[in-house]
Amino acid sequence: LNEQAHAQRLEPAITTDGHRVEVMANLTAAKAVNAAIEIGCEGVGLFRSEFIYMAHAQEPSIEAQQAEYASVMDQLGSERPLIVRTLDIGGDKPLPYMPMDEEENPFLGIRGVRLSLRYPDTLKRQLHALLRAANGRLLRIMFPMVTDLNEWRQIRAIYREVAAGYPEAQIELGIMIEVPSAALMAEAFAPELDFFSVGTNDLTQYTLAIDRGHPVLSRQADAISPAVLKLIDLTVQAADRHGIWVGVCGELASDPLGATILTGLGVRELSMSARAIPRIKARLRTISLPDARSLAARALVAESSEAVRELLAPASQTRE
Ligand code: PEP
Ligand code: MG
Repeated sequence: LNEQAHAQRLEPAITTDGHRVEVMANLTAAKAVNAAIEIGCEGVGLFRSEFIYMAHAQEPSIEAQQAEYASVMDQLGSERPLIVRTLDIGGDKPLPYMPMDEEENPFLGIRGVRLSLRYPDTLKRQLHALLRAANGRLLRIMFPMVTDLNEWRQIRAIYREVAAGYPEAQIELGIMIEVPSAALMAEAFAPELDFFSVGTNDLTQYTLAIDRGHPVLSRQADAISPAVLKLIDLTVQAADRHGIWVGVCGELASDPLGATILTGLGVRELSMSARAIPRIKARLRTISLPDARSLAARALVAESSEAVRELLAPASQTRE
């Protein structure tokens, strides 16, 4: 790690022309919050709540879930926002207490909110835990694997039913953009949401039709693919027209070239594994917004991922 990046890790990421990008951490447990703050996170852009569930042989009680979320919020304080993603589990990673029929294609099966809609009481208990933990503080809740508007409205109806019991709640709702249909329909989603967070890991898997963990093919699944970037561009444009913001919480956010292009596309918040934060902040401080925009414009018309990576000088080309 470059010494200067480390020394400046607690300072914001501001481009040479004064544009600020929020740099957040992806976390799985309350016990990781302190280290993330010390390495420079400005909040948590993706709290993967499934790890709380996976750590238990039975569904954790509302009280146990609430304690975990409250601890995250207490440690972050009022200055650092928190986005909790609701349970994102799929047919390939079953929970013993949420039995599912075996599926031939689990990544195309009952994952994320599709599972929550089959176990609405589990979702309701999670939402109760979140609303109680927040206790009137601002909290952002986002939902994984949303595919179409009808599904989102069913989820929102469940949320509203629970939230009716918490008049003090200050909650913002968002969805992950990680299925191509959601990106293509971002214009329809935007008026019904407070934010989008692009999950480039799954968005790449579903756009390129390459299993993200495939032993042979996954190297070809580069999220910097112009096909994926076009979907992100559509999402940002739709969000801008409706006055909501877009973040990215997939791996592309922690790729220096990716972070630059995403900033140029108009993404406001980048969330990544904590150890990538100093390096990405340092990178963003070296660029100007017009340069990032022009790089993004060229990436959008490039003919391949390789061509996008070649847009930069050889020294910065390496994929980290
Ligand atoms: C993603 O899909 O990009 C994402 C951030 O979620 P996960 O990696 O947990 O599926
Ligand atoms: Mg995902």
